[in-house]
Amino acid sequence: MSPFARLREFEKRTRPVDPATAAALQRRWDELPAAQQVPTQVLGRRTTGCEGTHGVFPKCNFSCKPCYHSADANKVRVDGPHTLAEVERQMQFMEATNARTTYAQLIGGEVSLLEPEDHAAALEIMWGYGRKPMSFSHGDFDYDYLRRIAVDDDGAPRFGDRELSFACHMDTTMVGRAGIKKPTTEAELNDFRGRFCEMFDRLEHEFGVRSFLAHNMTVTPGNVDQIADVVSNCWDQGWRLFSFQPAAYIGNENRWREGFRELTSDVVWGEVERGVGGRLPYEGLHVGDTRCTRSTWGAWVGDTYVPLIDDRDERDLHTVATMLDAFPGNLIGNDRLTASARILRSLIDSPGALPVGARWLRRFIDRAGGVRTLVEARSELRPMTFVMHQFIDAADSAAAWAHMQAGTKATESKIKVAQERLQACAYVMGHPELGQSVPACVQHAVLDTAENRELSQILPLPTRKPTTSVGE
Ligand code: SF4
Repeated sequence: MSPFARLREFEKRTRPVDPATAAALQRRWDELPAAQQVPTQVLGRRTTGCEGTHGVFPKCNFSCKPCYHSADANKVRVDGPHTLAEVERQMQFMEATNARTTYAQLIGGEVSLLEPEDHAAALEIMWGYGRKPMSFSHGDFDYDYLRRIAVDDDGAPRFGDRELSFACHMDTTMVGRAGIKKPTTEAELNDFRGRFCEMFDRLEHEFGVRSFLAHNMTVTPGNVDQIADVVSNCWDQGWRLFSFQPAAYIGNENRWREGFRELTSDVVWGEVERGVGGRLPYEGLHVGDTRCTRSTWGAWVGDTYVPLIDDRDERDLHTVATMLDAFPGNLIGNDRLTASARILRSLIDSPGALPVGARWLRRFIDRAGGVRTLVEARSELRPMTFVMHQFIDAADSAAAWAHMQAGTKATESKIKVAQERLQACAYVMGHPELGQSVPACVQHAVLDTAENRELSQILPLPTRKPTTSVGE
């Protein structure tokens, strides 16, 4: 490439937002219900939403209650070539239709049932399509499996200096974990949580591979009052994100239990706050509809959690709106040079963001206890995000989705709410054959059943005779 062509490529790469992403963001913004088009909304301004794969390895070796996958999922064989081809197909579609540099979960069953080489290859495909992948797992695998994902046969990190992201689902609704098949209290799992994080510490120590770890917990009436203890006992194990999913009536009906609807978002969030020991403001930055997702970004300063944004402070809300305007698109997944150049060019376009950001920083430092406290606690500063994600019951999702497909509006209040939430969905799965990104709620409520039934024919379990046609 000539120096001039190289310069032109760099200029294009470091634009505050590339034209395809800008167009995808605009489309997403235009699709949002008017009530969600608020200055603190991230969807349609910074991202088109998180993404997940589906039908790529439906099987799981646990039997959780609830389980969001359809009953037929466990009749599908895990098959590396199928996984890679399907991940490629879905990511190609996502890249063409959604914003670049988007978080995407490698999910759809239990990812650690893949051979480590296939697991690594799937992540590489996702990176290649401008996604930042995160493997979603029950975490019941050993260090050797993790090492083989992260490091090649010569001991070199497979993904260069990129972080390896895992979401580990661990709670008492799960059955099948080695060493603790049926835990009865969340406290019994704390050592397992700690050991999971330690594997990643070891990986960094031995091979220099950094990681991002998220802890996922399904919440039912049976464990809701144990959330606070999980947070207060496990926050410093190495997690960067704690996510709580109040159980919904979705997925495999045989795994449903009584009482899921007793859990309100306020009750669950209140328990997370009890564990943190302070208020978790979630109105400062909206990721879609807060009836689906509540999030608080912040950091532990010593043992005190300090949120980045105080949603009762108008100046903080103004800061968020200013920053979302000044920095369009997403910076994740960019190398440092590209990200720095994009930040610089964004600031040249919006110089007013600089003083607004400086004043916010001052307020954050004050909330954290002042410069001195921060300096003293510098080795104990831990960025952390708290999230609650509440899926919609399958029956409501199906009814709302039927309206969306027909272009009609629901009138029954709970279906109306479901339709509004689906329209503001922040977690979608790609269907190239439909030309659509579909909310994960719809995937599990409507599409999973037929998809897994078909896959069970194409990829039957080894014990079953493969289906053969007459005359074959
Ligand atoms: S519609 Fe469903 S998948 Fe989408 S953000 Fe809401 S709860 Fe999540």
